Amino acid sequence: MENTVVGAFGHPSLVARRASLRRNKKSSRLPAGAAASYRLNSPSRRIKAVDTNSQDLNVHLEARAESAADTINPALKGSVWPSPSDETPFWKKEFPTWDVSVEVPADVEKDSDLMHIIHVTAEMAPIAKVGGLGDVVTGLARACLSRGHTVDVVLPFYECIEKRQITDLTLITTYNSFHDGDWIPTNAYRGEVSGIPVIFVEPSNQFFKGKYVYGGSYNELEAYIFFSRACLEWMQVTGVQPDIIHVHEWQTSALPLLYWDMYHQLSLKRPRITLTIHNMEHYGECRQEQLSKCGLDGAIYATTDKAVDDRTIGHNPERLSLLKGGIVYDNAVLTVSPTYLKETLCSGWLSSTLIRNRDKYFGILNGIDTAIWNPATDIYLPVKFNAQKLEGKKFCKNYVQKGLGLPVESAGIVEGKDVVNGTQRKVPLVVCITRLVAQKGLHLITHAIKNVEELGGQMVVLGKAPDDRVEREFKDLADLYNEGPAIRILLMYSEELSHMLYAAADMVLVPSLYEPCGLAQMIGMRYGAVPTVRRTGGLADTVFDIDDHSNSHMANGFVFDGIDEGSLNGALDRAFSLYKNKPDEWTGLVRKAMERDNSWNNTAGNYIEVYNSVRVR
Ligand code: ADP
Repeated sequence: MENTVVGAFGHPSLVARRASLRRNKKSSRLPAGAAASYRLNSPSRRIKAVDTNSQDLNVHLEARAESAADTINPALKGSVWPSPSDETPFWKKEFPTWDVSVEVPADVEKDSDLMHIIHVTAEMAPIAKVGGLGDVVTGLARACLSRGHTVDVVLPFYECIEKRQITDLTLITTYNSFHDGDWIPTNAYRGEVSGIPVIFVEPSNQFFKGKYVYGGSYNELEAYIFFSRACLEWMQVTGVQPDIIHVHEWQTSALPLLYWDMYHQLSLKRPRITLTIHNMEHYGECRQEQLSKCGLDGAIYATTDKAVDDRTIGHNPERLSLLKGGIVYDNAVLTVSPTYLKETLCSGWLSSTLIRNRDKYFGILNGIDTAIWNPATDIYLPVKFNAQKLEGKKFCKNYVQKGLGLPVESAGIVEGKDVVNGTQRKVPLVVCITRLVAQKGLHLITHAIKNVEELGGQMVVLGKAPDDRVEREFKDLADLYNEGPAIRILLMYSEELSHMLYAAADMVLVPSLYEPCGLAQMIGMRYGAVPTVRRTGGLADTVFDIDDHSNSHMANGFVFDGIDEGSLNGALDRAFSLYKNKPDEWTGLVRKAMERDNSWNNTAGNYIEVYNSVRVR
């Protein structure tokens, strides 16, 4: 896979593009008329305009907001249009703290048979989010709370968590939890995060220290095995016995082993354990002696029917897989879309384990948290909007374009006209918000950058690469493109900017090689960004092609099958053609995408059914 990535960056067309960009650094490759308008709006011009005419622009910003039939975000009152030369980038402004719990509809029907569910997880949005896992925990927890259940989330107290995002943070107990022959003093705090009760587990050793959720200078595998035991130890010392302990991914997959082979023999009798696998690629490879550090005997699990990593059989040493152990030891195993469930039963080294456990394996589509992801209330947007009032979306697009130094379609004298054709020039904005890892189709993302520019569109990539080599490759691309008129590649993680980009976008691109569920396409739809996706996993379950006439009532985007550039081109061509040539149909598609119910309310009931099927009464 790594070779594919490197190959993609070294592709001859990209090498040629580099040479051509170096030659033409100052000249646009767009049609003559368009190039003229882009030059007029080059970032340096606009920076000057902001300096000299800030009062005018200020009026303009607020006047435009009013014409957008909504009020401007109070955090922006009195500001000018943003610009790339701003000392504080527009996504780093001081936004008010956001209590999304007030956005949660009170009229959700309550379940009759209520239970206590505890999620044990490495991520939770927005305070400790790296990808979709964090979103899912928060969204599912809130949906179950709304249905009347008691829900807690247990999370490591990462040093990087911003405490101001936690309400009523209180130390509730200090206890000892076991690691490598020692009892480690550990604090448990209680607090609330956007309306959801959270227990924070804070060991007094070096675990979970550092600037980020992952990648601290401690042994991550051992830290999460410790955390798994510390959660059960906390339940034991406090007497908390939920109906369901819901673990996620390999990080908390040692918990079911610890539960059934240790704590269930002690005082915890009631809980049953469910595991959600969000991504089968990460399986928690573990040496026997590492597992032994939590007090279990690692050797006991080194059998095919327990946790041995089948790929290492016959090697010295054979390894364990925490995820496989979790699959074997849990009462129910879930994954995040029906199509991904089928894919994982057919391929991958865990498929034989999943087939053996087929009768407790379920595929339930993720939802999105519609309190956090709501363009009608989102505090990060300059102006809010909904499917009926789309003017605010146009404003968000202009706002982001100005802030990133991209030409704006409708704010200037020359803009908006394609001089060559004499027609209205339409510049769709495509966004791709993703972790930059091989799974996400890196060669297709880089190809899309080139193709979108050639098609006369704009594209913003917001991504973070955990791998230094990928980071460097994208940094090179950013150096090549970011001074040009059409592309911005932003290599960072920003929750605020992601909200603004979804709101600004005409299209959201998700060209993944595989995708267990995918949230970007669903969030994009909610914000009126029409999805263009590869048909795989959850993308196949949520996006339906507008040219598939057998399924036209579901149609909400553009879908392609191949992993080659031609397949992607075909989908982008069709999307651009509809956007440019049939604006009314496009607006209809935007509205339809926005109105699709991708919320947890729609899907949490399936989780409740699984919980009910395993709990003890
Ligand atoms: P995965 O879990 O594989 O990362 P998903 O599509 O399920 O992919 O979820 C990704 C989540 O992370 C979405 O909420 C997306 O908006 C967010 N995200 C990904 N990269 C970034 C980034 N660089 N900045 C902000 N949010 C991001």
